[in-house]
Amino acid sequence: MSRPLSDQERRKQISIRGIVGVENVAELKRGFNRHLHFTLVKDRNVATPRDYYFALAHTVRDHLVGRWIRTQQYYYEKDPKRIYYLSLEFYMGRTLQNTMINLGLQNACDEAVYQLGLDMEELEEIEEDAGLGNGGLGRLAACFLDSMATLGLAAYGYGIRYEYGIFNQKIRDGWQVEEADDWLRHGNPWEKARPEYMLPVHFYGRVEHSDTGAKWIDTQVVLALPYDTPVPGYMNNTVNTMRLWSARAPNDFNLRDFNVGDYIQAVLDRNLAENISRVLYPNDNFFEGKELRLKQEYFVVAATLQDIIRRFKASKFGSTDTVRTVFDSFPDQVAIQLNDTHPAMAIPELMRIFVDIEKLPWDKAWDLTRRTFAYTNHTVLPEALERWPVDLVEKLLPRHLQIIYEINQRHLDHIASLFPDDVERLRRMSLIEEEGNKRINMAHLCIVGSHAVNGVAKIHSEIVKTQVFEDFAELEPEKFQNKTNGITPRRWLLLCNPGLAELIAEKIGEDYVRDLSQLTKLHEFVDDDLFIREVAKVKQENKVKFALYLEKEYKVKINPSSMFDVHVKRIHEYKRQLMNCLHIITMYNRIRRDPVKLFVPRTVIIGGKAAPGYHMAKMIIKLINAVAQVVNNDPVVGSKLKVIFLENYRVSLAEKVIPATDLSEQISTAGTEASGTGNMKFMLNGALTIGTMDGANVEMAEEAGEENLFIFGMRVEDVTELDKKGYDAQLYYDRLPELKQAVDQIKSGFFSPNEPNLFDDVINMLFHHDRFKVFADYEAYVKCQEKVSELYLNSKAWTKMVIRNIAAAGKFSSDRTIKEYARDIWHVEPSDLKIPPPNEPRDAAQDKTPNGTAA
Ligand SMILES: *Cc1c(COP(=O)(O)O)cnc(C)c1O
Repeated sequence: MSRPLSDQERRKQISIRGIVGVENVAELKRGFNRHLHFTLVKDRNVATPRDYYFALAHTVRDHLVGRWIRTQQYYYEKDPKRIYYLSLEFYMGRTLQNTMINLGLQNACDEAVYQLGLDMEELEEIEEDAGLGNGGLGRLAACFLDSMATLGLAAYGYGIRYEYGIFNQKIRDGWQVEEADDWLRHGNPWEKARPEYMLPVHFYGRVEHSDTGAKWIDTQVVLALPYDTPVPGYMNNTVNTMRLWSARAPNDFNLRDFNVGDYIQAVLDRNLAENISRVLYPNDNFFEGKELRLKQEYFVVAATLQDIIRRFKASKFGSTDTVRTVFDSFPDQVAIQLNDTHPAMAIPELMRIFVDIEKLPWDKAWDLTRRTFAYTNHTVLPEALERWPVDLVEKLLPRHLQIIYEINQRHLDHIASLFPDDVERLRRMSLIEEEGNKRINMAHLCIVGSHAVNGVAKIHSEIVKTQVFEDFAELEPEKFQNKTNGITPRRWLLLCNPGLAELIAEKIGEDYVRDLSQLTKLHEFVDDDLFIREVAKVKQENKVKFALYLEKEYKVKINPSSMFDVHVKRIHEYKRQLMNCLHIITMYNRIRRDPVKLFVPRTVIIGGKAAPGYHMAKMIIKLINAVAQVVNNDPVVGSKLKVIFLENYRVSLAEKVIPATDLSEQISTAGTEASGTGNMKFMLNGALTIGTMDGANVEMAEEAGEENLFIFGMRVEDVTELDKKGYDAQLYYDRLPELKQAVDQIKSGFFSPNEPNLFDDVINMLFHHDRFKVFADYEAYVKCQEKVSELYLNSKAWTKMVIRNIAAAGKFSSDRTIKEYARDIWHVEPSDLKIPPPNEPRDAAQDKTPNGTAA
């Protein structure tokens, strides 16, 4: 990417990287020097590489602002239906290269940076990841923002500006150690604070009822300060907004009433309020019912809904009938998508605004609310479903609890009218779980408060409809939908794998970047020997580059001609990193048993973060590192097998490892992984998949043909049957000698000689409470891995299968996903209208913007 272009390359350069005009390059260099001087206040004698990164970032940003202002001005004037994507997570990663790509500035910037005597890749590496997410759910939100902007939708992402994102993972002596992610330390050139749009959010207090309705009073106020980040579409001059809220204490915080005496303490206590946006909760697929987390959830919801209603009222649709706003058109003008139940309090909050503040009758308010919201379910794992204690909600949000009770009363009355005397059904469908501590089932609240409910892959949506929320689907079958997840091909192909992106463009043109289904055109080249060699060459180059990265950053050497077998995702029992580990031990034992037998060399790379409070996940990391220690230092094994635990897996590391992967591990127990999106990234980047029939793997096999993936193991039906029969791990252990050997080695301290009982908890879990049935799929997994190795020996056959996979990956563009949301849930049309570009960037200040624009 950072290489200077030779004349020849310049001639054949492809415009997906943007056009290098002499004018452009000169203007970029002027911008860079101006920012180094005026923004960074440095000259080139004292500037650090970070100064150069910031100078470049500001230069690129200058090219966004005119388009951003124009886009928002256009929305203000035309008033299209607004799409609001509410999410507690936006796992954005880095912004610089993505912005250059979407603005078509990449080549020109490369050239300018080269002419300035700097290294583009080195500068890009200085940018911190915006790690405001845990894994798939947060990354999905980020991909959706890219696709919504690319499709010209008037969309907004709303979330929290965490001061600390997902922790940085260090590995010390094989254990995970967490470090705080102080990502804002050096400043964030991509955000713009908007203190003029600050809004109050209320907590605690009590409710007073009178003939004028309910009043929520004596509350504590926290201010929500918005920070806007531009979200450029791909080459369409559209720039949408991601608005993240930061918590601020009001200036009179704790200085009223009785606290007046202790001024110093009152100022110090401002932290209490501001802690709301301090840190991302680091759980993936796990519910932790902490008060601070509930505060975060309500904080983003309350601030966002005020913003949405302010914008609606400012539009021509928010007309006023003598004194009151007419909200009849609200659901036609506003769609709010809930990314899981995390922002579920938006439903009672909108009811509170409509009923208590805007004085609408309940039934009217409820109709508008349901037509506004749609809910995406992301998991069926019971430990991940949010069930907030009623006590806690009553204390923090007393009025909302009353509203939830009212919603529930009417909901249960309705069920009772349809199913008289079915008390069991009422219990199952209630928003309130009465057993033990009373809890609110947030998924139930979302289902009754939305007009659409969707799962994230076909198989998952079926499980949602027929198992987890069966009663609700029986009541309103048309409400339940599927929207199979996707990934943005801009970041997950153009940005991370330019070699492959350009090779594809040479064969089928550039239009596939916006219409990924065009990848099917590659089928024509499956037997083209030159193309096969070129695809293999790009993969090999990516592998060498990744090997050099590992050597430079971690001083570990890996063999780029070995198969790169990669398992990167959050560490979780259901994702079965333990099964991969058992396979590694099995391969190790086979090599030792017969060292001269042919063995297809492998580098097994496992990476991912464990939630800090998840003991078993942390033990799995330690076990992988212990096994790596033994395997990597055994002279009998030599270079045949290497095991690498990849530290601190995150978006920017995914961009490096995925294009270098030969084999993608997607081995969750059937029925547990809702969709997965890592699986799609690997497919698009020329890896083959070994996987179970779970999540979107099912649809990947459907698209590519099952014979082009390595599918193994139990199907959902098999798992259900085994559950009925009763899963007994011991049976498999007794029957399979290689499994027995591997397990015995872990148990006896072979991998932890100084602490033989170190992995007792892991072994005990595998035998006695393994909910994800690792042993039941072990044999099929190992056999399937043998087939993988066999095919890898035939490089040409392997690469042909790779090409068939890439050609079939078109479905998994998030553009396709968003078009389906737009058509089936939001009822809006994508627009390929190119908003005219501004005169950028020097003349942008002369653009006329109307006064009082609602930003
Ligand atoms: C895509 C992505 C994920 C999700 O991966 P899955 O394999 O679908 O769980 C998690 N983390 C990062 C950094 C990602 O880029």
